[in-house]
Formats: sequence, C-alpha cells, structure tokens
Amino acid sequence: MVKKKQVCEFLEDCEFYKKFGERQSNIWKAIFSMYCNGHSKSLCEVYSQRVESGKFSAPDIMPTGRPVSFVYKQLP
Ligand code: SF4
Repeated sequence: MVKKKQVCEFLEDCEFYKKFGERQSNIWKAIFSMYCNGHSKSLCEVYSQRVESGKFSAPDIMPTGRPVSFVYKQLP
C-alpha cells in the first residue's frame, strides 16, 4: 500500500512558506518535510493561528512559533 503524502492545505497561501519554501538546505527541507509536506501540520503554530484567527502570522515566524533566526535566514 502506498502512503498518501500529507500536504498542508494552506501551503499556497502561507506567508512563511511563500517566503522560505524554496530554500534548499537540509535543515529547511527537514522543516518543510515534517510540517508543510508531512504529518505534523497539526503541531505547526502558523497552522493553528490560521485556523483559529483566519489570518497567517508574519512570514518570519517558524512552525514552532518562534521567529526565524538570523542563522536560518542565512541558509540557502
Ligand atoms: S508553515 Fe504551517 S501553515 Fe504554513 S504551510 Fe507549513 S504547515 Fe502549513
């Protein structure tokens, strides 16, 4: 049996994903794989805020709910 890939339904409109979704370093890809294209969207703080308020958080907020760090911003 082939497992269906879980993709966040907010992927197209998410401000965080729009800003960082093209990043190619392994650490970024791991975040997208876990949350945005994986099974953990329910743990994503950006997702929770969108569901609760109807609005996305600022683009520089990670799925963890913390600001994107300077180091992460430098990664490709
Ligand atoms: S950051 Fe959260 S809300 Fe945005 S696409 Fe990824 S899982 Fe969905």
